[in-house]
Amino acid sequence: MDRLRQELGRMFCRRCDYCQPCTQEIPISLAMDYPSLVKRLPPEIIFSGFVADAMEKATNCTKCGDCEERCPYNLPIQEMLEDYVNWYRREKTKYQGQTYSNKRIPSYSSNNGIHPG
Ligand code: SF4
Ligand code: SF4
Repeated sequence: MDRLRQELGRMFCRRCDYCQPCTQEIPISLAMDYPSLVKRLPPEIIFSGFVADAMEKATNCTKCGDCEERCPYNLPIQEMLEDYVNWYRREKTKYQGQTYSNKRIPSYSSNNGIHPG
């Protein structure tokens, strides 16, 4: 278990952008930062600002795998993006279902464990 936690702890994007260019113009490093952004930014930014733009673009991933071949840290980018996009979608649905006065910071425990959160 400790070894697994250590591996997960190393699974983060260094934002070097060596994975670019993405044929779908996905801002990979920004989308890969979703777990951190969702903790730091208000939901208005997450669901309608630049984070939303990045996550919506990430839904267009064709899983070509080109980015993973270029990542010097061997990150499973496709899998991580899929996880973060699903996480984003779930929280967006919850957020949109709330009344304005009842809006709250999204839950951080909803990822599937790929990222330690
Ligand atoms: S796998 Fe997805 S994110 Fe990576 S280069 Fe291809 S389309 Fe872009
Ligand atoms: S190459 Fe890897 S570590 Fe660098 S920005 Fe892309 S996903 Fe992140």
